[in-house]
Amino acid sequence: MTEFVVVGCGVIGLYTVACLIEKGVEPTKISIIAEHLPGDQSIQYASPYAGAYFSASVEMELLPYSNYTYQNLPKIQEMLKNISSPIGLGMCPSTEYLDEEMSKEELDKVSEVIEDWEYLPKEKVEKISPGSKCAIKYKAWIFNSPLFISSLLKSHKARGVSVLRKKLLNISEAYSESTKVVFNCTGNGSATLAGVLDVKVYPTRGQVVVISAPHITECFSKWDDDSTYIIKRPDSQLNEVILGGFYQKNVSDATTYGYETDDILLRTTKLYPKLLLDNPWGNTISDLQILRVVAGARPSRNGGVRIEKEILDKKRILIHNYGAGGCGYLSGLGMAHAAVSLLDE
Ligand SMILES: Cc1cc2nc3c(=O)[nH]c(=O)nc-3n(C[C@H](O)[C@H](O)[C@H](O)COP(=O)(O)OP(=O)(O)OC[C@H]3O[C@@H](n4cnc5c(N)ncnc54)[C@H](O)[C@@H]3O)c2cc1C
Repeated sequence: MTEFVVVGCGVIGLYTVACLIEKGVEPTKISIIAEHLPGDQSIQYASPYAGAYFSASVEMELLPYSNYTYQNLPKIQEMLKNISSPIGLGMCPSTEYLDEEMSKEELDKVSEVIEDWEYLPKEKVEKISPGSKCAIKYKAWIFNSPLFISSLLKSHKARGVSVLRKKLLNISEAYSESTKVVFNCTGNGSATLAGVLDVKVYPTRGQVVVISAPHITECFSKWDDDSTYIIKRPDSQLNEVILGGFYQKNVSDATTYGYETDDILLRTTKLYPKLLLDNPWGNTISDLQILRVVAGARPSRNGGVRIEKEILDKKRILIHNYGAGGCGYLSGLGMAHAAVSLLDE
């Protein structure tokens, strides 16, 4: 009989189920309820559209969650050994050019957990990347996001977790007689779901271009007024690489635009000429093998993530876990660990 209900089947809901199982909850007592499941495509479902990679330049507030995620993803690899297929999780070298120097506190906190860490100060990067204040190099986790969330769901179901596809109009619909706790992992849905109706939640649109690029074996990004990134996808038969992108606040338009694609291709090839120089199909932008162009909406929240326990009607326990913005893969396991830890409070 269901005792724990997780509403939402994006990466946050799936990490939350993983943490419940790790805590010792019997999987047959866990149910997932979600409108969208892995395999679906909707602007209301951010997780399939993420690059996704582990960026080491997150805000201070997210650092405890991202550091936890970085260190504990091997547990997820172990957990997913119950499915025999590739899971869409790997590691590769990553370089980020930043338009602000990292504070000593940030540097200390990040560098103590991240492997192969190197910090390049302004004088070492300004010639290579004009305008950048520093660069960081490290070994990053990379996610094949559609495959990774499908693998998590497959693994959870194989253990006995049940899944119900349903759109809830009110969070109270998640409770049955046997329910002890509901986890709200509805991302952007938290803005419109009655019983939650969080006015701080807003979508941040991003468009990405997915190319086939067997010659790319690393991630590369530059953060300034633009967000320019190149992310290698692991366990991809077509050697997918994600080129991005945009951070458009309060936009949830699923349409993709040719002028945005052109802008992404110009920025990424300028930042990282290897995309063209070593491309097996030719050395101009038009030689890039574009597989698809997609747009997704990050579930952002003014004030940051919401990980909070609430008691409804003096008896029902509701634990919120949403608002991951552009960081659900890289900080989500830490967020889920924190949310599940609230069971003990
Ligand atoms: C272009 C792009 C690039 C990105 N790159 C990265 C990256 O490199 N690294 C990284 O860490 N992150 C990245 N992200 C961010 C990442 O995708 C999100 O942080 C993450 O997917 C959020 O997961 P979530 O589970 O909170 O939300 P979602 O994936 O949106 O899932 C929400 C779930 O809740 C369900 N739901 C909502 N409302 C209801 C309701 N009323 N009833 C029932 N179910 C409901 C939905 O159906 C869905 O199952 C990127 C995002 C985009 C769009």
